[in-house]
Amino acid sequence: MKLSSLCTDILHFLLPYRCIVCGQRLSAGERHLCVNCLANLPRTRFHLSSPNAMEQLFWGRINIDRATALFYYQGEETHKVLHNLKYYDNPDVGRHLGMVLAEEALSSGFFSGIEAIVPVPLHSRKERKRGYNQCMYLAEGISHVTGIKVMGRAVERKVNTKTQTHLNKDERWENVQNIFAANPSDTFLSTCHHILLIDDVVTTGSTLISLAHAIEAVNPDIQFSVMSLAFPSEYRFAMENNEPQDSTS
Ligand SMILES: [Zn+2]
Repeated sequence: MKLSSLCTDILHFLLPYRCIVCGQRLSAGERHLCVNCLANLPRTRFHLSSPNAMEQLFWGRINIDRATALFYYQGEETHKVLHNLKYYDNPDVGRHLGMVLAEEALSSGFFSGIEAIVPVPLHSRKERKRGYNQCMYLAEGISHVTGIKVMGRAVERKVNTKTQTHLNKDERWENVQNIFAANPSDTFLSTCHHILLIDDVVTTGSTLISLAHAIEAVNPDIQFSVMSLAFPSEYRFAMENNEPQDSTS
């Protein structure tokens, strides 16, 4: 046993960790969520079904290849996970769930051809206030499993936008237009062929489309895939209805 994992076990014994969803004491080997709560997160399994409702958000807007999310955003349990990641000073939840997502998608070939991972950047002021960028931790978890490198500083968020939560679909588009700038002297970014964009929650897709447009400004022929932790459950049948309905409008 490595010394670091022995130390973790001793610390765990002295200060038992609790599941962020049900509050039960975690056993050795469990991290952040107990086995039951992790298994019960309602999976989208979009990496097994293409085309899917998440990819559809990006059709005609960017050169999209694949899109998947770990779970549908529905109910108290998924809310607790997302809230914990963003507001409880607990970024390692993101790294852990990024690893879970990548492990579940790996054998489907989802990552085939992807050359780099770009997490949605936070504005520097917001990142200082929170202490971390939750999307960066998700990206690091995915990178740990896949070996694909993370480009954490290739794109900058120029504008500190207000939260999208209470905005309708049109207001969301308006809120994120031209808020990102890709570094034009980053030669890898301007020459690579396929990038994976990471967000914690994809709702209308507006933030990721704006991010993709900033990258297209330095690399017009680039292709994108998209991953997030959560996707709204109301959108799950969007393929059948043809047009996703915005839950916030
Ligand atoms: Zn639990």
